[in-house]
Amino acid sequence: MNTFSIAIHGGAGTLVKGLMTAELEDHYRNALKVARNAGYDILESGGSALNAVETSVKLLEDSPLFNAGKGSVFTAEGTHEMDAAIMEGENLEAGAVSLITGIKNPVALARDVMEKSYHVFLAGEGAMRFAKNQGYVIESPEYFYDEVRYQQWQGIKDSDSFQLDHSVKKDGKFGTVGAVACDQYGNIAAATSTGGMTNKKWGRVGDSPMIGIGNYANNKTCAVSCTGSGEFFIRGVVAYDVSCLMEYKGLSLKDATNEVIHKRILEINGDGGLIAVDAEGTIAMPFNTEGMYRACKSSNGQEEISIYK
Ligand code: ASP
Repeated sequence: MNTFSIAIHGGAGTLVKGLMTAELEDHYRNALKVARNAGYDILESGGSALNAVETSVKLLEDSPLFNAGKGSVFTAEGTHEMDAAIMEGENLEAGAVSLITGIKNPVALARDVMEKSYHVFLAGEGAMRFAKNQGYVIESPEYFYDEVRYQQWQGIKDSDSFQLDHSVKKDGKFGTVGAVACDQYGNIAAATSTGGMTNKKWGRVGDSPMIGIGNYANNKTCAVSCTGSGEFFIRGVVAYDVSCLMEYKGLSLKDATNEVIHKRILEINGDGGLIAVDAEGTIAMPFNTEGMYRACKSSNGQEEISIYK
């Protein structure tokens, strides 16, 4: 049997240590543990990596602690616009949605795009029409409301700045959730979901729903889910860059992810991190920020739940 493993993240960034109470840290750790274990249980009982990553991401979307689904950040118009993607590494099937509103679990909609449409990426109004055709319930804005996110937005709403989640600094970083997994059959998958950046304007789309950038899976190389300043991750074509370093240069998962996060993305001033697995169940979780909400578990005994370095 193949080593099976899962890794999840709840965003990378400049963590404001002073604002983190012991109680809040417990909440974060517990939410990470619940999401990780739910995915791991699926892998342990012989389920697919695809089901595992979707299940873990849905649980993170349901938690207001993270900037995805419930608890998504506010746009400049005071709304929530969410992005998500999912991909499996056996047949390179993928689905993604962007600029959607009112959908409780954007990752589930991304999976429906993958499995029930002829397309890979649906955005805005069209994505919403597809969701309604698929019978999705459209939640009211109150469902997504979170007081902390609202206050973050109030702080910058009349300015041109926009910011990543979980930071008091205007140029600070954070947010987004993701999962990568390798199942007992050596198939890998990745899923990513986000509310994007506080005060984002003009239909801004980040890296998270973009296949090959914030999210990618290929059994030949790796499954990757990214978090960080999307504009830089897009220009760095991050997830596919990790895969290319493995495929064309023969780098290991560890070396390829370190090269991208600690060198290439830094060279263009990008900050953030990623989680990745390969088809042998190896896990990597590098980040170049102060911290990244992260957790992992492998059938080889490796286990971790961490926030700071
Ligand atoms: N990468 C996400 C975006 O730019 C944000 C994040 O990771 O927190 O939309």
